[in-house]
Amino acid sequence: MNRNQCVQGLILSVKPVGEDNRLATIVSPEKGVFTALVYGGRKGKLRSSVTPYHSGKLWLYCDEVKKSIKISDFDVTEYRTGIRENLYKSCGAALCAELVIKTQSGIDNDKTWYLAKGYLDGLHLASEMECKLGTLRFLWRFLDLLGLQADTEFCGFCGNPLISNSGTSPSNMILWYSTTDNTFLCNDCIHSGDISSFIKIHHQGLHYLHSINTASPAEVRRLILNPETVQELHELLFYLISRFAETRLKALEAGIGIL
Ligand SMILES: [Zn+2]
Repeated sequence: MNRNQCVQGLILSVKPVGEDNRLATIVSPEKGVFTALVYGGRKGKLRSSVTPYHSGKLWLYCDEVKKSIKISDFDVTEYRTGIRENLYKSCGAALCAELVIKTQSGIDNDKTWYLAKGYLDGLHLASEMECKLGTLRFLWRFLDLLGLQADTEFCGFCGNPLISNSGTSPSNMILWYSTTDNTFLCNDCIHSGDISSFIKIHHQGLHYLHSINTASPAEVRRLILNPETVQELHELLFYLISRFAETRLKALEAGIGIL
């Protein structure tokens, strides 16, 4: 096996190891999530380039005997410096990195790579207001990666259609998410279950989630949401991601009141 490899990589986190070395956690379409060592002094080129949210071409040396990977070189093509300059963006990026690292098993490497890169690009480029909706879209897409998205089209109890693409449904129409069944349901069906296990969502919010799956990213970005819908989606998606990540998410705890 070739000990030298060249792969695409996005740095998710970096922590110090020993006196002078660092361990980077990386996501790559070729290798999934993996860790690699950066050896070297305080002022080395690699030391500054191997920094969270940078991505580009990585040259690796894989030691089969020691079962370790060393980064030999890194040609950064995306720096995403805008993330570090804003608290909201930093918290969003930390949540993205933690989700990718902690839920790596069973996830499609290619899709994870594009989703993480796309969200981080948005954080770098967009305004903080736009990023808040970007975070909601990222979380909904991440649930799809985990195979845990609830069906947005039909009521999980009676099978009736939930949303209307023609826009004929009144925007104040109320629908529900059942936490016990991980399904959306229509207003007629809330009598079939325990109301305390339901989370309210207006038609506009469910239509937005449906559009993320079916429309182009540019079309979804043009959709305008009521502040109430944004709040409902925020509550629902953060509830879902903390529930389905099946682990404590430090970035969520650190981001309370910010994210
Ligand atoms: Zn129903």
